[in-house]
Amino acid sequence: MAYVITEPCIGTKDASCVEVCPVDCIHEGEDQYYIDPDVCIDCGACEAVCPVSAIYHEDFVPEEWKSYIQKNRDFFKK
Ligand code: SF4
Ligand code: SF4
Repeated sequence: MAYVITEPCIGTKDASCVEVCPVDCIHEGEDQYYIDPDVCIDCGACEAVCPVSAIYHEDFVPEEWKSYIQKNRDFFKK
């Protein structure tokens, strides 16, 4: 389980979430920020501070953004 960053981050990327993550698992990508699902401890701190509500728990990602669960995961498979 992990939190996931979705579409609203694209074009915003203000990095508020990065500052509050206790395990430093949020990393900058070209288009958006990404959460490393193997490191995230599900604390929810990032979700609370995102100004555009781009962050969701994996189980509560809105239907239209479900592909972002895999997109976040794939970012760390390099
Ligand atoms: S839920 Fe907590 S551990 Fe996971 S990315 Fe957000 S701030 Fe970091
Ligand atoms: S706080 Fe929200 S908009 Fe800002 S970088 Fe994090 S996910 Fe993107």
